[in-house]
Amino acid sequence: MKFLFCLFLAGAACAATPDWNRLETAAVDFLQRYIRVESVNPPADTRAAAALVKELLEKHGIPVKLLPSGPNGQVNLLVRIPGRDRSKKPLLLLNHLDVVPVDRKAWEVDPFAAVIRNGDIWGRGTMDMKGIGAQHMFALIALKEAGITPARDIVMLSTADEETNGTWGIRWMIDNHFRDIDAEYVLDEGGFGTRDILAQGKLVFGVAVGEKQTAWLRLRARGTAAHGSQPIPDNANVTLMRALDKAIALPPAKPHPVVAEMVRNIGGPLARNKYTDAIQVNTASLTTLSSGVGSPAKVNVIPSTAEATIDCRLLPGVNAEEFVSEMKARINDPRVSIELISPADDPGASNSRTTLFEAIRKAIVKSNPGAIVTPMLVPHGTDSVKLRMKGIIAYGLTPMVLDLSTAGSMHSDREHIPLAEFRKGIHVFYDLLASEF
Ligand SMILES: [Zn+2]
Repeated sequence: MKFLFCLFLAGAACAATPDWNRLETAAVDFLQRYIRVESVNPPADTRAAAALVKELLEKHGIPVKLLPSGPNGQVNLLVRIPGRDRSKKPLLLLNHLDVVPVDRKAWEVDPFAAVIRNGDIWGRGTMDMKGIGAQHMFALIALKEAGITPARDIVMLSTADEETNGTWGIRWMIDNHFRDIDAEYVLDEGGFGTRDILAQGKLVFGVAVGEKQTAWLRLRARGTAAHGSQPIPDNANVTLMRALDKAIALPPAKPHPVVAEMVRNIGGPLARNKYTDAIQVNTASLTTLSSGVGSPAKVNVIPSTAEATIDCRLLPGVNAEEFVSEMKARINDPRVSIELISPADDPGASNSRTTLFEAIRKAIVKSNPGAIVTPMLVPHGTDSVKLRMKGIIAYGLTPMVLDLSTAGSMHSDREHIPLAEFRKGIHVFYDLLASEF
């Protein structure tokens, strides 16, 4: 009846306006309680976190399904809000219940107290990603209160195990419950709004449409074992050191089309920092070195082998095997072997010419007048890659304006987000989910 009545009225006129004051206050209160649940991974016991989310949503009339997956209390949480056009595949809101561990001594505040100071909320998971998860949840609650049936089904999945490669989270869901989460679009973490990270002095919202591929390499040099008192030319450590110098000196990469589009949309070059540097080229970080004989390693023994690992991140579309062959040719030393030790997953970037992308742009600009909204690449990995591999269009949307130091607090001992941005982000998700997409 309500639906028929709405047909005669223009757009939102038929919907009740959510009581935003009350909802925003409830959202901040919920986020505090959510952070106080220490759902640290490992072991990723997400029973308490999932129970808290279930209680919240069911109190607002949104039914929740819990899907226990792993041996240590890993639980995934699933919600489906039926839409008007059920012939369309759903939009999947993806967030995770687990957080990375903390080094308590290094924190100025208790990482699980959800302290609010100077307008920021501090704690493990505020950024990654209980904050965005709470925004998803309160946008769904606001839709419900407004009496809005979304354009198509909306599914929300809160996974148990994002922070150790998704074995009991997204991978388990794909293997065991793919029909429940099969979607046309996914909104995941990644991307953000900023005034300094992407372009100096311009408000830019990057929506992640692709991420760099992980290519972890192990280099091993072989030589001759000998007494440290008499130097030899065939010292595995020296061979490795010379090889590493050449290994990490990567040749320039062909610019990626998504980065070219970012530059066009921003109307000038990207700001210079480690984040924007990383999304424009292939990168190599030397992360571990190991060598020596005995424990502790003897100073007077030249070992016969030496090893290093390099965390390489390649632009989408770069062939990892060719990348390794080129590195071998650069090193050009038969005593050094290179092994690719991570799986090669490169689904490429998602198409940004979609109705959903346009709806995202409108929703962001409504809450952030004058903002430039652009597709972007992110330098790190997210669960989106696993869904892109299944042919789903995945975007990373963090609808908050963050500065370099706040964005950089993820996984650190100063993780925090501005509360005003947290509140505003709920509106962005609400406007998006209430629109045609
Ligand atoms: Zn995360």
